[in-house]
Amino acid sequence: MSKKEFKAESKRLLDMMINSIYTHEEIFLRELISNASDAIDKLAYLALTDQNVGLNREDFAIDLRVDKKLGLLTVSDNGIGMSKDEMEQNLGTIAKSGSLQFKQALDKDQSDVDIIGQFGVGFYSAFMVAETVTVLSKKYGEDEAWMWQSSGADGYTVTPCEKTTVGTEVILKLKADTEDEKYSRFLEQYELQNLVKKYSDYIRYPIRMEMEKSRRKEVPEGEQDEEKEPEWENYTELCTLNSMVPVWLKAKKDVTDEEYDGFYKDKFFDYEKPLAHIPISVEGAVTYKALLYIPAKAPYDFYTKDFKKGLQLYSSGVLIMEHCEDLIPDYFRFVRGVVDTADLSLNISREMLQHNRQLSIISGNLEKKIKQELLNLQKDKREDYEKFFTAFGRQIKYGIVSDYGMHKDALQDLLLFWSAKEQKLVTLKEYVEAMPEAQKHIYFAAGESNARLAQLPQYQRLQDKGFDVLFMTEDVDEFVPRTLMNFMEKDFRNLATDDLDLSTEDEKKAAEAAAADWKDELDFIKTALDGKISKAEISADLGSHPVCLVPEGGMSFEMEKYFKRMNPEMAMPVEKVLRLNPEHPVVQKLKGMIGSDPEKAKQYAQVLYAQGLILADLPIEDAQAYTDLICGLL
Ligand code: ADP
Repeated sequence: MSKKEFKAESKRLLDMMINSIYTHEEIFLRELISNASDAIDKLAYLALTDQNVGLNREDFAIDLRVDKKLGLLTVSDNGIGMSKDEMEQNLGTIAKSGSLQFKQALDKDQSDVDIIGQFGVGFYSAFMVAETVTVLSKKYGEDEAWMWQSSGADGYTVTPCEKTTVGTEVILKLKADTEDEKYSRFLEQYELQNLVKKYSDYIRYPIRMEMEKSRRKEVPEGEQDEEKEPEWENYTELCTLNSMVPVWLKAKKDVTDEEYDGFYKDKFFDYEKPLAHIPISVEGAVTYKALLYIPAKAPYDFYTKDFKKGLQLYSSGVLIMEHCEDLIPDYFRFVRGVVDTADLSLNISREMLQHNRQLSIISGNLEKKIKQELLNLQKDKREDYEKFFTAFGRQIKYGIVSDYGMHKDALQDLLLFWSAKEQKLVTLKEYVEAMPEAQKHIYFAAGESNARLAQLPQYQRLQDKGFDVLFMTEDVDEFVPRTLMNFMEKDFRNLATDDLDLSTEDEKKAAEAAAADWKDELDFIKTALDGKISKAEISADLGSHPVCLVPEGGMSFEMEKYFKRMNPEMAMPVEKVLRLNPEHPVVQKLKGMIGSDPEKAKQYAQVLYAQGLILADLPIEDAQAYTDLICGLL
């Protein structure tokens, strides 16, 4: 019996599969089960109109069988089956199958060894684990059965065979174990069970296997003996490995909260229950179901590049992608869940997905749902929302400042900041709505800790006026108001850098006059500090404090520190401005001293400058010199 050659391109693909360099061999099982399920779909469809099929929905099944002695794994189905011609067509060439797309993608990018996980690579994937593949099939409505057999790239044979029932049986003679690869693991019942759970749990037909189990031997009535060790016996039982109906396909009313939570924990390996679940069912331009979760805690690797975002993408219960990134915008990357749509083919590549119209409709949809759910949480379950924000608020803030603020409108309502007045987290809306009539701006201060910020002289001035201040202590915080610029028509004012706009017109005029009056003294102080400040000025905003330091220009000291951490070489030092309170006795004393004792006045200026550093949470440049100076004065 002469062998038939595979078509040229099939041969190349086979070569690749046989000499598999991939880590995902295990997906072969998903592929074979998915083919079996498709074949059953076809016959089940026929059965709807054709009495002769003689099978009901519950008669259909996919069976796994192992023969450990011979190293055989069999996947069989009672689906539509294949005729001789179809075997030649379907298994002898990769022309239209998922394998073709796989091959094309590989040709483009040989380096992406992970690529296989993304594809329906089809029937050929069997050759990643098997040295010989035998397919027995009997097509529905035909009398003869056929056997297709191949040991790889040198070709295949098709011969008549005995098979009584309609359907297909794929028999894999597994490759021998090597040091790196234990193919024999595909003969272990628990391995197979896990693979079915992992990849094919929601196939709508039972996937069954004889499982070996053990149980306590029954002891006949009257012969029980407490002293005696219980005896065990082995038995086998035909088990269904898949659950068949995924929770996300069930109607919301049929699923309890516990079930939703349990599914989340199982599926995403989280021991904590999620803050919220979002079941979604959409029919329209794209028909899909989704089940999304807001986790309660950030995974340990969430803010690293190791974290993989994305939702699981299913096509009618068959997993086609573990982390489909295109379904979820970056700023919602903490969301976990699954999306299932029959509108996508199983054989779609990652590249194709990126430009897929259905997917972009779905992702736009999901984004709105997620935002709505978060706002609901904010409104109805504040404690949970704060938990959420503690875990993922930083991600939301990154979302606001990234892409030139493109997403700020979508995200700003989700923000929480610490209100110094209320002593709790508030939304921007809550802040603005609580503003007294006289307050024109949203005030914020950024620094290491709330305690530190509460000591800012500017803060005390605002506090006296009854104005609230948002305290920001995360490194990304300060960039948020810069990106937002304003909220509900109120602009943001940074306590450290901006004009707080607290004076009346008269007060401003008085200040200008005072500044002119202080000109010589300010020049003296600048010279005395010898390049440490870019200028000295007087200010009415200092409350009871003698001085403060503010940065010159738009960048704050906090940002300077941030950039220094990110890239020490690129960091630009921020110039400092020393502000003096002309009403403060020490400052007045300094003023009086400049004419009479300039040497001492210089020391006073240096001490006041150091105080400014301390209050701004900046290091004293020369601590030794500073303590000497203080001791000298004491
Ligand atoms: P794909 O499933 O993407 O079309 P495959 O290489 O997996 O590509 O399979 C090629 C074809 O072989 C299928 O389209 C189907 O017609 C046929 N086939 C594979 N497995 C079976 C099966 N168990 N029963 C009937 N037909 C099958």
